Order: sequence, then C-alpha cells, then structure tokens
Amino acid sequence: MCRHLGWLGAPVAVSALVLDPTHSLRVQSYAPRRQKHGLMNADGWGVGFFDRVSDGPSGDDVPRRWRSPAPLWGDASFESVAPALRSHCVVAAVRSATVGMPIEASATAPFTDGRWLLSHNGVVDRSLLPVTSSAESFCDSAVLAATIFERGIDALGETIVEIGGADPLARLNILAANGHRLVATTWGDTLSVLRRDDGVVLASEPYDDDPGWEDVPDRHLVDVTVDRLEFIPLV
Ligand code: GLN
Repeated sequence: MCRHLGWLGAPVAVSALVLDPTHSLRVQSYAPRRQKHGLMNADGWGVGFFDRVSDGPSGDDVPRRWRSPAPLWGDASFESVAPALRSHCVVAAVRSATVGMPIEASATAPFTDGRWLLSHNGVVDRSLLPVTSSAESFCDSAVLAATIFERGIDALGETIVEIGGADPLARLNILAANGHRLVATTWGDTLSVLRRDDGVVLASEPYDDDPGWEDVPDRHLVDVTVDRLEFIPLV
C-alpha cells in the first residue's frame, strides 16, 4: 500500500531522490519490490519539499507541494521540472488507493498543517478516528493526518499505539517532516533507512541496491535530525 520517501540533509535535486535511482519512487509506482498490499501505485503521487526562506538555526522552512491523481510514470512535466527543484527536506509518495477512497489530488500525500508534511502508508478505519474538520479529504489517510496534526507530532508514537490498539487491522506507517526533523513509524508495513554522507533517507523500500540500507523493525518510531538518528520501540 503506497510507497513513501523522506530526505533530511544537504540540498539535493528532487529528481535525484524520486526519479533517478534504479528503483526510485517512479519505478515503485509500477514495480515495487517489497509491497505486501496491492500490486502497484498508480492512483496518484505527491512531492512535498521545504523551501528555506531565511538562513540561521531557526530559518523558516515553508512546505511546498505538487500532487496529482495520475500515475507518476506518465508525468512529463514533473520529470522536466524536478531537476530544478532542490531541497534539504523532502516527503514524497506514490499511491495505491484503498478500495472506497477517492482518487483525487486532495486525497494524495503529503498532507500538511502548514508546518509539517505527512504521508501515510497503510489503512485505518475512519469511524474509529475522532471527527476532525481540518482533514483535506475524507480519505482515511487525510483524516488520520488531521488527527496526528491536532495531537502534535511529539505525540506521534502514543497516537499510533492508541489507534493501532483500537483498530487491530490498521496499518500505520507514517512519514513526516518539518524541514529540521524527519519522523516515521512502522506499524504493519516496510521501512528502510539509508545513512548517506550528505543526509538520511527513509523509504518504504530501498531505491537502489546500496548495501547500506537498513530495515526498520515493525512497531518502531524513527526520529531523525541533522545530528541524530534514533529508533524507539512503540509499545
Ligand atoms: N489508505 C490510503 C489511501 O487510500 C493509503 C493507501 C496506501 O497506503 N496504499 O490512499
């Protein structure tokens, strides 16, 4: 179910993360290698990145998004522009819509509250989530994103444990970033980490065959800043 990717590090071209690798998100949109649910991710794509508008330790990072309900592999406009989009922090996803969910840009990750970009890989019973008026779509992932934003990213682990407890069939792999921090959970789906010299990649599955990719165990939270990477068990 869906594949997502996050980057925190030096500024890089979005195309270098999303399009160029041998098993990039573009390839994962039609031939994922580790996807356990669904065959391909043809129901849309979204690329979000942070635009650093001022320098300094607390420089303002503004989230920008480009989302589409069409398959990533056919988007020639994005392919043309992506090499010119550079960012130090990226959240991107290709989507395999859950049955019954709308196929439209507003249902496609990444979702945002204006500060964070967030992607959900999985499924959740919306009727078990609190009613929220701030969801971008009635898609389960959008309602889940709004719930997480309302509770705060610092409470992400607790929120996932609580929702996972209420909905035993839920799969709750979350990936979120705010320009300075990248956080992800594993709850029912795959996630891998690549520590590069210039930054960290978190991805539903490796985008190439670099032996440096590490699998994140299920039911964990990964918390990344420029100088720290932590794995925290979710109990
Ligand atoms: N349930 C979400 C949707 O319908 C995410 C699906 C997924 O992870 N494939 O978009």
